[in-house]
Amino acid sequence: MKTFDAIVVGAGHNGLTAAAFLAKAGLDVVCVEKNDYIGGAAVSRNLYKDWWYSNCSYVCSLLRPEIYRALELHKHGLQVTPYGGSVTFMENGDYYGSYHDPEVAYREMARFSRHDADAYKRYSADTMRQCRFIRDFLLSTAPDPTSFKPSDIRELIRIGGKFMDMGEDRMYDTIRFWTMSVAEYLDEYFETDVIKASFSGSGIIGTALGIHSPGTAYVLLHHYMGDVDGNVGSWGFARGGMGSVSKSIASAFQAAGGELRTEAGVDRITVRNGKTTGVALENGDEIAARVVVSAMDVKRTFLTCMDKNDLPAAFRKRVENFKIRGSSGKVNIALDGMPSFPALPEGSSLYHSDMHFIDSMERMERAYDDWKDGTWSKDPYVDMVIPTLNDPTMAPPGKHFMSCFVQYCPYQVEGHAWTSEQKDAFGKAVIDQISNYSPNFKDLILHAEIRTPQDIEAEIGITEGNIFHGELTMDQLLFNRPVPGYAQYRSPVEGLYMCGSSVHPGGGVMAAPGANAAREILADLRRPNTVPENFGDD
Ligand SMILES: Cc1cc2nc3c(=O)[nH]c(=O)nc-3n(C[C@H](O)[C@H](O)[C@H](O)COP(=O)(O)OP(=O)(O)OC[C@H]3O[C@@H](n4cnc5c(N)ncnc54)[C@H](O)[C@@H]3O)c2cc1C
Repeated sequence: MKTFDAIVVGAGHNGLTAAAFLAKAGLDVVCVEKNDYIGGAAVSRNLYKDWWYSNCSYVCSLLRPEIYRALELHKHGLQVTPYGGSVTFMENGDYYGSYHDPEVAYREMARFSRHDADAYKRYSADTMRQCRFIRDFLLSTAPDPTSFKPSDIRELIRIGGKFMDMGEDRMYDTIRFWTMSVAEYLDEYFETDVIKASFSGSGIIGTALGIHSPGTAYVLLHHYMGDVDGNVGSWGFARGGMGSVSKSIASAFQAAGGELRTEAGVDRITVRNGKTTGVALENGDEIAARVVVSAMDVKRTFLTCMDKNDLPAAFRKRVENFKIRGSSGKVNIALDGMPSFPALPEGSSLYHSDMHFIDSMERMERAYDDWKDGTWSKDPYVDMVIPTLNDPTMAPPGKHFMSCFVQYCPYQVEGHAWTSEQKDAFGKAVIDQISNYSPNFKDLILHAEIRTPQDIEAEIGITEGNIFHGELTMDQLLFNRPVPGYAQYRSPVEGLYMCGSSVHPGGGVMAAPGANAAREILADLRRPNTVPENFGDD
């Protein structure tokens, strides 16, 4: 039997990124994927006639520019176009719009409160300072604070230095920021409920926490620290849907000589004498390799695809305790035309923005109360976009694709598997929420795909459908992600590595975990490093 240098398990964008950098170093690499298509949660799927749905992730910003350039993703077909702003519709018929243009943004905020408009500059500067602090560590391995290895000590000194450079007050602020709730953070700047509600959404997206839960201020950061073409905090649409990100990385991998196998689900990662030997596929085939790199989440890797006896009990226990709870759903809709939102002026740029339908902090928290009670939010927080306004390749001319990301949606309903009636009721809650502000919306619906965390888990194998492969709270970040002592992409089994979103710096279409893992593997194999350096703060 042929022995590969490396097998990468899972052709999501992180698995493909790791595979591409390993192949570029001259390794003989095969990437195996259980589905008959690639991309994992960064995918474009043709689920209805001529419509292409970004049916999991839908907007792009976090993708590291260093990786984009090193893999020359533009040459492999990736094009990301920025889009702007957001709007929150209000129950009283008004709306709050958020604009890129600072003067328009100021005027709009001042319509509600001059105090808030004046505070925005400070809010923006403070939040951006935190973004710039963390951006510098995304494409590097988190140092282990208990280690005496020179590389760990060097990195700890670098982080410490950047932290001290902030100055005394900002050091205090940074610690507070990483641990406080998004509601408390916003209270320090703003007084207007709808403005706070509008900003608070980014603190709870993909997270099984509410706006008042400690740690949610950091999650907000996770949504601001990306960029499009160097514009920090901007978001964009990948032309052709989010599958274009994965396809371009796969193309770079194949151009470097890598082999991609779909419909090749891994049943077991095989181990002999504490060292991995390869994988056994669900179809009974075995593939041998010196190194196995798992892009599956940490629970699926170690608890589902490995023999209990191949792992130390204490490590398994840590993995069992890793928090990876399902809290988000998705509704993808094919539209016969463009829905109108009468609250907005005709031709408003806000049609091209993120649309939201919860206008108070009270309603945001109530939405979380439903999740705690084991059910979906009856007044859901919906992050809705219509990518076809920017990208006509995703639907026939004059028709549209609408993506609705929904918070909160539990993995199970009151402890039981979802029934089809409950799933329909969840979809209806989302559609009704939008219809409240768009009278012609329902009549335009041609097809709707309703996805609960259970569906996401069944399709792409993420435990509980947690979009980040594990919550992004301080206890699960940096040297604690996924578990203390194993945050540097290695595992207790020799030759077995992790490269998916369960490892630093976490979830989102960022490709950093895949690249970081490849760098560590190449170092262990004493091969030249193909992974680019962090650009640093630009
Ligand atoms: C609904 C939803 C909306 C999101 N929205 C956004 C967004 O707009 N922007 C953003 O930046 N991020 C978003 N995210 C988060 C982001 O998409 C994910 O964090 C990221 O794509 C995960 O990438 P990954 O490569 O680490 O893992 P995955 O994409 O989960 O890839 C893992 C791969 O492993 C495969 N696999 C699993 N088990 C096996 C097995 N046994 N054998 C072989 N293959 C296997 C899976 O099929 C999959 O292809 C969203 C996620 C979801 C689910």
